[in-house]
Amino acid sequence: MTKDQIFEFFRRLAEDNPAPQTELEYGNAYQLVVAVALSAQATDVGVNKATRALFAKVKTPQQMLDLGEDGLKEHIKTIGLFNSKAKNVIALSQLLVDEYGGEVPDTREDLMRLPGVGRKTANVVLNCWFGQETFAVDTHIFRVSNRTGMAKGKTPDQVEAKLEKRVPQPFRRDSHHWMILHGRYVCKARTPECWRCKVADLCSFRKKVLEAPKGRT
Ligand code: SF4
Repeated sequence: MTKDQIFEFFRRLAEDNPAPQTELEYGNAYQLVVAVALSAQATDVGVNKATRALFAKVKTPQQMLDLGEDGLKEHIKTIGLFNSKAKNVIALSQLLVDEYGGEVPDTREDLMRLPGVGRKTANVVLNCWFGQETFAVDTHIFRVSNRTGMAKGKTPDQVEAKLEKRVPQPFRRDSHHWMILHGRYVCKARTPECWRCKVADLCSFRKKVLEAPKGRT
C-alpha cells in the first residue's frame, strides 16, 4: 500500500467510528491490565462476563491479593487457561504493591516486568489508558496488516515495526482499534467479507472474496 492509500484506509474506517474503544470493560488502569492479561486466547465478551462481578469488588492490586488466588479462580474459571492466568494476576498484583506503590507504571519496560504481561499487553495499556501511540499487534491486526499489504511481516514484532513507520497522523493513536474491529467484523480469519469491505479497493489481498456466500449479506 502507498502512503496515500494507508491514509485513505484509516480515513474511511474513522468515518464510521470516530472514537473507537476497546471492547474490554474496565474502570481503571489496574483493571485494564488484568482484563488484557485474561484476554489471551479468549474473547472480549467471555472476559467481560467474568470480570463484571470481579471488578465490582476488586479495584486495586491489594484488593486482588486480599481475594487470593483461589477466590480469583472462582471468578475466572470460565476463561481458558484460567489457572495460569490466576497465578500471573496474583503475581503481578504483588509486584505492583511491592514496587510501584499499587500504581500501574506508564512505560513499556516497567509494564513488561509484570508476570503475564508481554509486549502486546503493554502496548494496549499504554495506548488505551495512557494515550500513547502504540501498536498492539494481536491476531486481527497481524492478519489485516499482512492481507492488505499495509505492514507485511512474519512476526507481530515485524508488523509492529512497520506500522510504527507507516501509520500517519491523525490516525496513529486509534489505528489499532480500527484494525482490530475491521479484522473482527469484516476481514475475518476464515472468510474475509470483501464483498462489503469499504477499503477493498485499497487492499492488495490476492484472494479477495468478492461475492457473499449464499445466505450471507
Ligand atoms: S478487501 Fe477483504 S482482505 Fe482486504 S481488507 Fe477488506 S475484507 Fe480484508
